[in-house]
Amino acid sequence: MSKGKSAADELQQHLQQLSNAFALRLQAELPALAQNAERLLHTADPQEQLQHLQNLRDQLHKLAGAAGTFGFSSLGQRARELEQEADQWLETLQKEQQSLQDFSHSLQQLARQQFQAERNQEPATRAVKPPRPNSSARRIYILEDQLSIGENMRLTLNNFGYHAEHFSRISELDNALQQQLPDALIVDVNLPDESLTGLEYAAGLQHRLDEPLPLLVITTQDDFATYLEAVRVGAMGFFTKPVDIPQLENRLERCFAQQQGEPYRVLIIDDDRELASRFSLILRGANMLVEMLHEPADIFASMRSFNPEVVLLDVSMPDCTGPELAQIIRMNDDWLRVPIIYLSAETDINRQMNALIKAGDDFVTKPISDNALVAAVFSRAQRARLLSNALSRDSLTGLLKHGDIKEQAAVELERAQRSGKPASVAMLDIDFFKKVNDSHGHAAGDNVIRALANLLRQRLRRIDSLGRYGGEEFLVVLPDCPSDQALRILDEIRQRFAELHFIANGQQFSVTLSAGIASTEDAPASADDLLDKADRALYAAKHNGRNQVR
Ligand code: GH3
Ligand code: MG
Ligand code: MG
Repeated sequence: MSKGKSAADELQQHLQQLSNAFALRLQAELPALAQNAERLLHTADPQEQLQHLQNLRDQLHKLAGAAGTFGFSSLGQRARELEQEADQWLETLQKEQQSLQDFSHSLQQLARQQFQAERNQEPATRAVKPPRPNSSARRIYILEDQLSIGENMRLTLNNFGYHAEHFSRISELDNALQQQLPDALIVDVNLPDESLTGLEYAAGLQHRLDEPLPLLVITTQDDFATYLEAVRVGAMGFFTKPVDIPQLENRLERCFAQQQGEPYRVLIIDDDRELASRFSLILRGANMLVEMLHEPADIFASMRSFNPEVVLLDVSMPDCTGPELAQIIRMNDDWLRVPIIYLSAETDINRQMNALIKAGDDFVTKPISDNALVAAVFSRAQRARLLSNALSRDSLTGLLKHGDIKEQAAVELERAQRSGKPASVAMLDIDFFKKVNDSHGHAAGDNVIRALANLLRQRLRRIDSLGRYGGEEFLVVLPDCPSDQALRILDEIRQRFAELHFIANGQQFSVTLSAGIASTEDAPASADDLLDKADRALYAAKHNGRNQVR
């Protein structure tokens, strides 16, 4: 906890520094503003007047956006009012060339005044859970009064590599909860022998906990009222009986991925460096990865190397406007999944709409409170990642699809050649899988495939890539891993997989796998060559009697 507090302090300190930097900047900008205002007064030439006015409008626009954000709220507000006045003036200047005096006067007054930051920001901190060690299985509690359903779910989830426990009474679950909290809870709605429904019980439990538990609901009622009640209790999944357990397991994985996923990557494009720094600090404080771009022309390199999940885009920049840049981004199909949010001092609804019609997904108006900024970015990033995963991942296993994992192998081969650190790939294939399907049914076969995917996810490192290469064939890419090490890891996975017990129609069975390894130490000519070598090793393992790694 003390770590969180000092991080918050540090953030506050950084914010204060930026605020001070902005105050310094005001010392130069405000006199410049006054000077321009004076020039406006002393010009008789309408063309020149128009030009000065245009400059003033731009200066005010920038000031309005930045000042409020840095805590100078009354300055920001006044600048915005004056900006709007400047706009009106621009429109009517042709008709009315007089009375600019008053306007110039207010500008000079503003510039002469002393301003101090009015503190009103809330600290933007978000507690982040420490990453979980790979080794310990996740604990799942199941509350289900029907013994056979609960036990079947427990056994199947254990097959998937979880530590699942089943309780048929609330009192038993309560006892277990006092010993240890699970990583997720699954509750049945209808509990005829209890005084509470599963959802009522869950509501009370969530209320008692400091941090709500990931909750999945299983039920025979899929009416709207039950859905609504589930959502209100904070349920993250809703399954009607008979429950498709691989699907439920899929949802569990998603809950956990959301809980401790990689930080979201956000690209901020704003010509105002201080403002961009401030937004960046706030978002970093909420555990996001942020990059800033001040030169629109660098957009391609930045999109490619940083691969942002959200783009925050200033509307008015000197060389290229936000909507123009958004249109450029949208011309590349690779970046279609990335939401673009305009960040602007623009309050004119017509102009906002015009910008959105050209490209871009949303508008956030400066000044914006820290929490509102975090929420706006977080929600878009979350949805963008979900969509992106749904598109590029295999639906049965959640692993990369054939093309993507092959590409990953090529990337790692190249990296290994550059760095001189060996990488390995392993091709895995389930033994006699056709027999599993034939004797236990296709659904049982699917279950085995998912169990292997889950086992690989749990056993391998975060930097490893996992893909479903074909039906019951998997490809894993292990960067910075020589072949002898890869052999050890894969052989451990082979053993654990053979130890899993599967259950289908009351029958228990086990399955084995074979694997072939190839490494960049064998000096492959290409990625295809590397995969070919792994494939041949797999073939040899099959011929040598299966249930082995070569
Ligand atoms: P070997 O030990 O030589 O690998 O024998 P095998 O039976 O595993 O090999 P084979 O390639 O002949 O059969 C693979 C079977 O996997 C054929 C196909 O019906 C089944 N299969 C492929 N994809 C899926 C899937 O998504 N779900 C299920 N249940 N079965 C699948
Ligand atoms: Mg700007
Ligand atoms: Mg096979």
